[in-house]
Formats: sequence, structure tokens, C-alpha cells
Amino acid sequence: MKEVTAAIITIGDELLIGQTIDTNSAFIGQELNKAGVWLKRRVAVGDAREEILDALAQQSRDNDIVIITGGLGPTADDITKPALCDYFGASLVVDDEALRNVTEIFNRLGKPVIERNLKQAEVPDTCTVLQNKRGTAPGLWFEKDAVVYAALPGVPHEMKGLLVDSVLPMIRGRFTLPAIAHRTLLIAGKGESEIAEIIAAFETALPPAIKLAYLPSYGMVRLRLTGKGEDGASLEADVAARFDELKALVAEWMVADEDISLPQAVLSLLHAKGKTVATAESCTGGAIARMLTSIAGASAVFNGAVVSYSNAAKTDLLGVDAETIVRYGAVSEETVSKMATGARAALRTDYAIATSGIMGPEGGSPEKPVGTVWVAVAGPESLRTHKFSFRFDRTRNIELAAQNALNLLRRFVLETEGE
Ligand code: ATP
Repeated sequence: MKEVTAAIITIGDELLIGQTIDTNSAFIGQELNKAGVWLKRRVAVGDAREEILDALAQQSRDNDIVIITGGLGPTADDITKPALCDYFGASLVVDDEALRNVTEIFNRLGKPVIERNLKQAEVPDTCTVLQNKRGTAPGLWFEKDAVVYAALPGVPHEMKGLLVDSVLPMIRGRFTLPAIAHRTLLIAGKGESEIAEIIAAFETALPPAIKLAYLPSYGMVRLRLTGKGEDGASLEADVAARFDELKALVAEWMVADEDISLPQAVLSLLHAKGKTVATAESCTGGAIARMLTSIAGASAVFNGAVVSYSNAAKTDLLGVDAETIVRYGAVSEETVSKMATGARAALRTDYAIATSGIMGPEGGSPEKPVGTVWVAVAGPESLRTHKFSFRFDRTRNIELAAQNALNLLRRFVLETEGE
């Protein structure tokens, strides 16, 4: 089967100077990859007509699909549409449905529609218009010399809607794509290189049609198996069999055998066990609470957080006696244990997580260097503590402390409540 290849062109000076991080390419890349399209190139160009034309000419020479984002808006630097008109020999015309959409959006917001906004409804007359349900700038689909092009607005939320609802179905209709099967699992508490050692023989024995990807982030590693083939059913079965082998090899550290985050796994575990949790956060400053509450449905298991940053807050809000703090220090097993039991009582939960540490860059000592973090998890009958030593900058140390604390809770709940 012939490989279908694609290039992504992102447009905007802000992308080149690092003012905006190009998250659009990452999303488009993942979605195309899932659909069985081979991503060959990603190119970023500024708001310059010649650069855009050059990029279009180059990428269409080497690819079947070219996806473009950015610069479709009504501001002076948005020059994608005129450049597309040049490239496809088109002229701008008003699209009635896009015009209705722009007018409706402005009416709903109670704002007058000015000439500049009406320009959003202008499209090159050689394209198929992809109506934008999430904003004013429509997407544009072109075909030229067997290459298809989709130009999408730069706003990530709008780009995603158009890509998923319009562009991907059109690509599937236009090309014969291979069957793709993905299976992902999540590992915590074991580094990427250690995992690689453990599964080395498994990886070597994989057939060429099944690839293994390591996707590490903040103390977690996602392992993803991707199979590509012509027959969907047999491919699914092959990937499922390999996935079972992989799961058995990493069972000890596996948090989930699906593509979810650690906070999601913790919430579903608590939900399944009918248990609640609270946090008492010093060094993580509410990061654990944020991770949990960013997931819909958190309210069923998460009661609240006490961000007890000062010693006084630890005493006044969590009942940690001042003597413990003076004697052992705020960053100690004793203090963090009392924070956890205090939060459990104050917020009336089954479980509580507490953190206290030195995140840097200042504040370390020979006994407690920067990166020292004590975590406690308190349960109905017992308590578990762990000292972590991180070695990164403040932001990363906080993220790692929060993730590791959640994993400590997860293991503790599994041991207490049973698998
Ligand atoms: P609109 O007219 O609807 O604003 P547009 O097509 O003109 O859309 P831009 O003006 O290029 O898009 O960008 C709109 C917003 O989207 C900006 O805030 C920009 O920073 C952001 N954005 C643009 N390209 C990307 C990208 N590749 N990744 C993430 N964000 C992006």
C-alpha cells in the first residue's frame, strides 16, 4: 500500500520568535498519525507572502497532504488568504454561509459587525469552504495536482474542531489509508531507561509492522504500541497480543492500561472504591488539587485542599503542633504526617495527601538539600510516608512532587482497599 504523506505549515511571526508555542502542529501530527498518515515535515514560516508561497510549493512537491494553520484572520498581518489566492490562482468571494456565521456570532455577543469582521467570510473561489462552528474564520480545502491542502485558523480550539470534524473525514474519503491500531499504557515510578532494559527483548522481537514509542513526562512514561497494516481485524488482534505481553513485563509499575493521566487513574480508583481524598499542600502549593480538579467529575471524590505554606497555617488550619515543627522542621516526616492526618480530619475524607519540601533555588542545607520533599498519605487506619530527592528547577520539582505524591496515594489505596 502506498504511504500517504503530509506536511504541516504553521504561519505567524509569533511562532518564529517564540511568543506562541506551536501546539497546533503537535495536535495535527498526533491526529494524522492516528489516522495512518505519515507526517513527513513540519515547517514554520513568518507572516510573509513569499515565505508562504515557497513553503507551499516545496511541501506539495513531496507530500500528498499539506495542512496550514494561522493567518486566516482579519488583521493586517493575516496574509494567508491572499497568498493562497496567488498560489491557487483564485480571487476572494463572499461565502454566504460563512457570512451568516460571522453575523450570528457577533449578534450573539451583542457587538456590531464591522467591515474587518465581514472579511472573515471572504474565501478563495477555488476552495471548498469548511464551516467553523467554533469561530468566525472558516477553513479552506483545496486540491491541486493530486495534492490536497487544508488551511485552518490559528486559534487552537477552532483548528481542532475543523480538523476533527471536517479535514480528517475528508482525508479518509480521499485517500486509502492503512488500518492503524494503538494501545497505550502508563507507568509511574520507573525511568524510561530502566523500562527500556526490562523490555529490551520484547522490543527487539516486535514485527516491523508494530512499533513501540516511549512518551516520558514528569516521572511518568507512556508506552504506546502502534500497528499498521491492511487488515484491521487481524492487526487489532496482533497488537492486543503484544500489548498483553508488554503489560505482563511492566505490571509492577503500571498505573493504567489505557491512555489516561495519573490524576485520572487516581480519581477513577477512588471512585471505584467509593473513597474521598483531600490534600494538605506546602511545597506543591495546590498543584495536586489543580491536577485532580482539572478532571471532570473530581467533585465525587475530592473534598478540598489546604495550601498550608507557612508554619502558622500548618498549625492553625491542620492542627500540626508547633513543637513538632520546631523540633523536626517543616520539611520532615513528622510534620508531613501530621499535616496528612490533620487534612483528613479537617476535610472529613477517607484519605489525605500532604507535601512539604524545598523546591529551590534557595533554602537548601546539607541535611535537606534543594529537591528534598516529604510526602505523607493518611488513610482510615494507617499512614505512609516517603522522602523524595528531586534535582531539577523549581517548576519541575513541584510537578514531580505532585505526580509522585499522587502515585504514592494510588499504591496506598490499592494496598488498603485491595486491587
Ligand atoms: P483568527 O482570525 O480567528 O484569530 P487566525 O487564523 O488569524 O485566526 P492567527 O492570527 O495566526 O490565526 O492566530 C490566532 C491565535 O492562535 C493567536 O493567539 C496565536 O498565537 C494562536 N496560534 C496561531 N498559530 C498557532 C500554533 N501553531 N499553535 C498554537 N497557537 C497558535
